[in-house]
Amino acid sequence: MNDFLRIFMRQFKGRMNQNILERITYLRDELRQHNYNYYVLDSATISDYDFDNKLKELQGLEAQYPQYFDETSPTQRVGGEVTKSFKTVVHKNRMYSLDNSYSKEDLYDWEKRIQKNLGVENTEYTCELKYDGASINLSYEKGKLVSAVTRGDGFQGDDVTANIKTIKSIPLKLKGELVDSFEIRGEIILPLDGFNKMNEERILEGEDPYRNPRNTASGSLKLQDSAEVAKRPLDCLLYHVVGDKIPFETHFKTLERARNIGFKVPKAVKECKDIDAVFEFINYWDVERHKLPYETDGIVIKVNNLHQQDELGFTAKAPRWAIAYKFKAAQESTLLHEITYQVGRTGAITPVANLEPVKLAGTIVKRASLHNADQIEKLDIRVNDTVFVEKGGEIIPKVVGVDLAKRTSDSQPTLYATNCPDCETLLVRKEGDAKHYCPNEFGCPTQITGRIQHFISRKAMNVDGLGAETIELLFKEGLIFNFADLYDLRIEQITPLERMAEKSAQNIVAGIELSKQIPFEKVLFAIGIRFVGETVAKKLAKHYKSIDKMMISSFEDLTKVDEIGDRIAQSIVDFSNDLSNIQLIDRLRSYGVQLEMSVESQANQTDKLHGKIFVVSGVFHQMSRNELKKAIEDNGGKVSSSISKKTSYIVAGDNMGPSKRSKADDLEIPIITEEEFIELIR
Ligand code: AMP
Ligand code: ZN
Repeated sequence: MNDFLRIFMRQFKGRMNQNILERITYLRDELRQHNYNYYVLDSATISDYDFDNKLKELQGLEAQYPQYFDETSPTQRVGGEVTKSFKTVVHKNRMYSLDNSYSKEDLYDWEKRIQKNLGVENTEYTCELKYDGASINLSYEKGKLVSAVTRGDGFQGDDVTANIKTIKSIPLKLKGELVDSFEIRGEIILPLDGFNKMNEERILEGEDPYRNPRNTASGSLKLQDSAEVAKRPLDCLLYHVVGDKIPFETHFKTLERARNIGFKVPKAVKECKDIDAVFEFINYWDVERHKLPYETDGIVIKVNNLHQQDELGFTAKAPRWAIAYKFKAAQESTLLHEITYQVGRTGAITPVANLEPVKLAGTIVKRASLHNADQIEKLDIRVNDTVFVEKGGEIIPKVVGVDLAKRTSDSQPTLYATNCPDCETLLVRKEGDAKHYCPNEFGCPTQITGRIQHFISRKAMNVDGLGAETIELLFKEGLIFNFADLYDLRIEQITPLERMAEKSAQNIVAGIELSKQIPFEKVLFAIGIRFVGETVAKKLAKHYKSIDKMMISSFEDLTKVDEIGDRIAQSIVDFSNDLSNIQLIDRLRSYGVQLEMSVESQANQTDKLHGKIFVVSGVFHQMSRNELKKAIEDNGGKVSSSISKKTSYIVAGDNMGPSKRSKADDLEIPIITEEEFIELIR
């Protein structure tokens, strides 16, 4: 090759790489902005589909050109890094606690103290909500997130950077400048919506629900597998910048800048000229906080001027320049007219207090939860009592006590319901259960419709055109008594019903017909065996491959299935021994509902990896991480999130974490590539 050609080739290659780097940078910037719009500003400007496509393109390019790796790339948010034990880190600046106040008087006293201390007669404040979660300290250097550490004991905390990176509202790279090096503090929270969704799923899986968003958020930070953290709808609300040479006079201005360079600083922050403006803020949020998408337990009032903050300094425990004001849990007293009872799909009974309507935290409350028989007995709640109703973080208000002074002499202790409010069957209560149950599984209307509603729901048979109300209507009209009856429905039976047109009747029947193609594992979930949630149904389907094999297996046999414990096994045995269930399943079979694994999905399943445990790490080219995991499971292997002596192989893609690699080396566990893995199952 002559010199000319060589130089030309070098330049050409250089230019091509230049173009690729430009494209990568462009995609990263664009995706960052979309993340910011969606997670910080709450307003998306791109569809999920387009976002995913761009992310995939970027992932592809990054995999192909590893020399352009960037730890702040939006692709780094999917998690996958596993931390066995979190490193303890000493805080550069101590994380203090806050002093509390509970009344206006407390706040006046605080103001007097600081004004005396500063020798001034006027002080300005910034008011913020007190977010209820787990505190976190984020460090940024030259515009990039470098570490995230929990509060710990205030002097030192745990390094949870890998987990924190998966929270989309936390910028990995800033959109603008503040100072070269600073810390920013905030609260990791779990919004109520996301929390409730997580719990719904847990309940479906037969597990106990999480107790409250705060503990769940803080527990999430210590999960070992960051991919698990990525699945949780965590958020981070920021409230304090710590650093030398902050170029602003006030706390408020600093927060505004923080918001502008990418941080989620809630809009409910107010600059207050004096303490009266602070009280306005408190009064407003005392009511409005119940409409927020997350929990708060008070307000934090901070001296606005940063020089004054410096001058005031800290006590042994807390800053002198800030104070928390705790809300009282909203409470009112009102008359209890009647106790009624509700029955759910599983037959569980919930007692409900029917109240004289009362205004509580901005809404009119007519009904409140009474939990169960023990609670009523413990508080000695009686009809015609004046009761205290409280609205805490939860959506449903509850009765927390009785105003005994107002009890009338003819008052009678409450006798808990003995019969089902719906079908009047005698209630039962098993040992260890807090709740009473209606045992009339097949005759109790609410239970019957509840089960059919579950059967058609999205994650189960996903029947389009059919909703909860229509199920009730069809049941009321005597057209269905169980989910098998759905398949006998004819258009001419439905059309004459109230609010039904020919078209909707056609849609219903077509939707039901279509559900015959729903795969076996979903059918197994849909039939609603107690404690058999989505995941368990999948495990069972995979193991038994047909409902018949599952129904004839013994308790011992069932407990040998991966992750099936005594409680689930017993529930399946009970279900399988019930004659009416056997008949129902036979009917489903006669209609052509999938009661075994299809030939195609069985064809992809082998036992090649039986007994082998895999850890998957890094970014892959030919399959997504989830496809890879599925391939492992389909071939009889197990996927684990952390490396241990039991690990058989590590399938490593690009950017496998260095700590993982050294752990694998220590334990002498073979590391294989994606291609080698594919070879393994071929
Ligand atoms: P406490 O845990 O009751 O001592 O309250 C102090 C904690 O409140 C701090 O460590 C923060 O994690 C948290 N906090 C929540 N919201 C704010 C806020 N807006 N400003 C300061 N701290 C807050
Ligand atoms: Zn009943």
